Amino acid sequence: MGGRRLSMFEATGMNGSRMEQAGSTLSRPRTVAVLGATGSVGGSTLDVIARHPDRFRVGAVAARSNWQKLRDICVRFQPELAAVLEEDAALRLDRALRASASRTEVMSGPAGLAAVATFADADTVLAAIVGAAGLHPTTAAARMGRRILLANKEALVVGGEIFMAAAAAGNATLLPIDSEHNAIFQCLPPRYARNPRDFGVRRLVLTASGGPFRNRAVADLGSVTPEEACNHPNWVMGPKISVDSATMMNKGLEVIEAQRLFGVPDGAIDVIVHPQSIVHSLVEYVDGSVLAQLGHPDMRTPIAQALAYPDRIDAGVPPFDLAARGALQFETLDHERFPCVRLAYDALRSGDYATVALNAANEVAVAAFLERRIAFTDIARTLSAVLDALSPVALSSIEDAMQCDERTRRETRAILRLGAG
Ligand code: NAD
Ligand code: MG
Repeated sequence: MGGRRLSMFEATGMNGSRMEQAGSTLSRPRTVAVLGATGSVGGSTLDVIARHPDRFRVGAVAARSNWQKLRDICVRFQPELAAVLEEDAALRLDRALRASASRTEVMSGPAGLAAVATFADADTVLAAIVGAAGLHPTTAAARMGRRILLANKEALVVGGEIFMAAAAAGNATLLPIDSEHNAIFQCLPPRYARNPRDFGVRRLVLTASGGPFRNRAVADLGSVTPEEACNHPNWVMGPKISVDSATMMNKGLEVIEAQRLFGVPDGAIDVIVHPQSIVHSLVEYVDGSVLAQLGHPDMRTPIAQALAYPDRIDAGVPPFDLAARGALQFETLDHERFPCVRLAYDALRSGDYATVALNAANEVAVAAFLERRIAFTDIARTLSAVLDALSPVALSSIEDAMQCDERTRRETRAILRLGAG
């Protein structure tokens, strides 16, 4: 990795001169490119942006196929550019926008996503595409040195150190908005670099709600439905991350995400179950201090924190009343019930190829579960089988990582007898 220490803050310019621009001295609004505009995180981000037209404007938006929702977003926010991955949906969007005399240019395919990610006027890019599909556009934005609000954890899991190095080389700024990582970011010292020892950090503790099946009889988990799995007790999210929360693969991916972002060894990253989702994560220091960030489970808080950083702005989230909230519980994670978390730690120890494979197999298995083709408990079983059969491969580029991703998807489909797809 060379002699230069990578740092989300230092190497990616978080404490550099461009930070001054984030202050209240802003003379013109920041232009934001929104990848995954029609999704749950995309919607929360547009909500925060709409509250602060003096600070932010939407320059470009992208989504996979939901052209009607994207049309409504374009009519409301008037971006210069909109991209839809699917060609046919892009044509429909273009037609609808021409009919409404909108000035938005429409693009399609991977080139359209790349154009939104590197949109010339945007200094800030929201990375909120779901899955490894977000890696290419997020890397393109990183290479352009943008401020990246990172929700797309799969991109980081798949891109690994290669993505972090691209962000450092491009002098990009990474601002985590996954609620746990944003909480940790807020609890770390302002100049934190990816070296916990220099900053007296002993341990990161990620909180996990335990999802909808925390108390369900383990014997029943084989027959739970996608609707039950997506019915999260605290958060409203897209279907893939909702299933990941039910298996707790989400927390496994977040352990990997934390390792990549903060440079903390996996032995110093713990997971604790906290059913109320009020404490969003904690940092323990060598002097015994434990800092936590608390708040309502509402993504607009981490999004607003990152959008305005280092300022603070109204996120539209109601005031928090700790006394009214009452008792907060914390429990040890039950690895029997949630085997996916251990699989993520194992993959992290094995190397980048294993984390890529874990994520790819999980995306295939979760999609198959959502389509009712496999049982909920088959997800963890499949991941375990895929990891057991892996042989180490060296990954030295994003293309290598994506090849490993595609190979694993084929193997996972074969294991699940799903056919090509
Ligand atoms: P979602 O399913 O609600 O939205 C996904 C978005 O990505 C949509 O706009 C969709 O059009 C777009 N998309 C999907 N596949 C695409 C592709 N191949 N190319 C281009 N666009 C594509 O998902 P979400 O819940 O908003 O989650 C987005 C990301 O943020 C995920 O990586 C998730 O893990 C992460 N995240 C979400 C939350 C949350 O509260 N929802 C919290 C933390 C992190
Ligand atoms: Mg999270």
